[in-house]
Amino acid sequence: MTVEVVLLGTGNPLPDPARAGAATLVRAGDKTILVDAGRGVCMRLATAGVLPLMLDAVLVTHLHSDHICDLNDVLTTQWVMSPTSRPLPLFGPEGTGAVVEGIMAMLGPDISYRRAHHADLDWDPQFELTEAAPGVLSDDSGVRITAARTDHRPVDSTLAFRVEHDGQAVVMAGDTVPCAGLDELCAGADIYVQTVLRDDLVSLVPMQRFRDTIDYHSTVEQAATTAARAGVGTLVLTHQVPTPAPGSVDEWTALARRHFDGRVVFGEDLLAITPSSG
Ligand SMILES: [Zn+2]
Ligand SMILES: [Zn+2]
Repeated sequence: MTVEVVLLGTGNPLPDPARAGAATLVRAGDKTILVDAGRGVCMRLATAGVLPLMLDAVLVTHLHSDHICDLNDVLTTQWVMSPTSRPLPLFGPEGTGAVVEGIMAMLGPDISYRRAHHADLDWDPQFELTEAAPGVLSDDSGVRITAARTDHRPVDSTLAFRVEHDGQAVVMAGDTVPCAGLDELCAGADIYVQTVLRDDLVSLVPMQRFRDTIDYHSTVEQAATTAARAGVGTLVLTHQVPTPAPGSVDEWTALARRHFDGRVVFGEDLLAITPSSG
């Protein structure tokens, strides 16, 4: 196994006792990479055997709260557990710098308490923040990370990420409708993880605010169409909207199979997927 995806959180913005918020772990070669940091991310990381100080990079697809609401926990825990100052590489779309500044302001009292109490903790949380443009973000130890712009307007900008190692490629897309940037990033990938929505169900919800979400997410069928167009090996459905009813998994995957011949995986928290896993 050279590349593995672990779904840390497959939930949508509505709290769900069985699903943490949007977050995905990628293990590639000797790199451990976190994509998004939604509700409960540090608990799910711990279950997957990863502490924040073990992360080589954090990638943020976009600044909607359900994808970043526990980023503060990742940053704080990385800081308090690190034996020495070790800046955490953090990549996100335009605007990430301002959000992280706000998080640091929120953590100001905590940072001052801990520094006052622990003589050896003589640094603030450290990170190397890059507001990423499309293209290669890093290429180190045989692990290449590439970003592409996606389309989740009015949320702008938004990114999807491709991680490649040893001839294998995985793509993690955040909330987006199908678009050229996503097609390009997904081309020939072994695994494509997409946040999805069922428009047939959401359109029935008697609340306009909920129905509004249809126009800026990929439906299951659109995700499958992207997967087919790009020739990916495995499509993974995550961040399902609405929350799937018990026993409905086959319905979700059947919708995808109408448009995509490859393997379809219905995401559940802590499911690990490799290019060759069954
Ligand atoms: Zn979302
Ligand atoms: Zn979003």
